[in-house]
Amino acid sequence: MTKIRTIDLNFRGVLHAIAVYAIETSDGVVLIETGPGSCLPTLLRELEKISIKPADVRHVLLTHIHFDHAGAAGWWASQGAHVYVHHVGAPHMIDPSRLNASAKRIYGDQMETLWGTLLPINPDQVTVLKDWDKVEIGELVFECLDTPGHAKHHMSFKLDDICFTGDVGGVRLAARPLIDLPSAPPQFDQEAWLASISCIKAFNFREIYPTHFGGVIGSENVDAHLTELAKFIPTVSNLIREQMEQGKDREAIIEFYESWQTERATSAGLGYPDIHATFTATPPDVSVDGVMRYWKKRWENEALAHTD
Ligand SMILES: [Zn+2]
Repeated sequence: MTKIRTIDLNFRGVLHAIAVYAIETSDGVVLIETGPGSCLPTLLRELEKISIKPADVRHVLLTHIHFDHAGAAGWWASQGAHVYVHHVGAPHMIDPSRLNASAKRIYGDQMETLWGTLLPINPDQVTVLKDWDKVEIGELVFECLDTPGHAKHHMSFKLDDICFTGDVGGVRLAARPLIDLPSAPPQFDQEAWLASISCIKAFNFREIYPTHFGGVIGSENVDAHLTELAKFIPTVSNLIREQMEQGKDREAIIEFYESWQTERATSAGLGYPDIHATFTATPPDVSVDGVMRYWKKRWENEALAHTD
C-alpha cells in the first residue's frame, strides 16, 4: 500500500491548517501541493525529519494555483522538480506576475510574511493537465479529475482507491468534528462544486486527503464527509444570499457570518484554539467575499438575460 506522509506546515503558527502530502516512489519523491513560499523553511525541516532532501523531490502535483497550495512550486522547480498543473492554471505558474501583483494588491506589506512570492517556472518543467490525464511516476499512476467549484482550474488526483481532493473536498481540520467551505473568490461556483462532489463520490474512495487538513479514512467516513459538504454548500451560499437581499453591506455580512460560524463551531464542541485554526484555514471574510461575488455575477447575468 502506498505510504502517504502528511506534513503540517504550521501555517502562521497554527497546527493542521495547511498540509503537503509526500509519497516516495521509485522515481523520487512526489509532493502533492507545496504550501506557500512563507512555509518553505518549515516544509524543508519536516522533510528532513523523514530523511527527504530537497534534491529527492522530483515531482510536484498541484490541485490548483492558489498561494496556500502552490506558492512554493517555483522554488521546487528551481531545484529541478517537475510540476503538474491544470491547463487553465499552468500559464500563471510559468509567468506568475499577475498572481503576485493581485496578491500584493490585497495583502500589501503582509504579502511576504503571509504567502511569499511565486517564482516563475521554466515551461519545460511543467506538464499541463486535462481531465482524465494520467500522470505516471515510478510505479504510481495518478489520474486527474477536473473538479471545479472552488476554482475553475482545480484538479483532484485519484491514486487507486484514494484521492487528493485539494479544496473541492472541503475543509475538515484533523480530528475536529467540523466541516467548512473554502468559498474563496473569485471563482466559487456552487453548481460546479456540487457536480464535482458527485464525481468524487461516485468513486467510493477509501480515503480522501483534503489539503486543509489530513486524511478522511474509511469509505463510510469519506461518504459521510462528502454528503455533509454537499449539504453545507447551499446552506452557506443561501445564508449569505439572504443577507445580501436584506441589503446588508460586506462588513455586516462578514460579522454575521463569523458569529454564525463561531456558534456552529462551539456547538460542535470546539474551543477557541480550534476555532482559530479553522478560521486560519478558511477565513470567514474570504469565504463571504467568494459567495458574494458568485451571487452578484449570477444576478448580473440574469438581469442581462432578461434585457435580451
Ligand atoms: Zn486552500
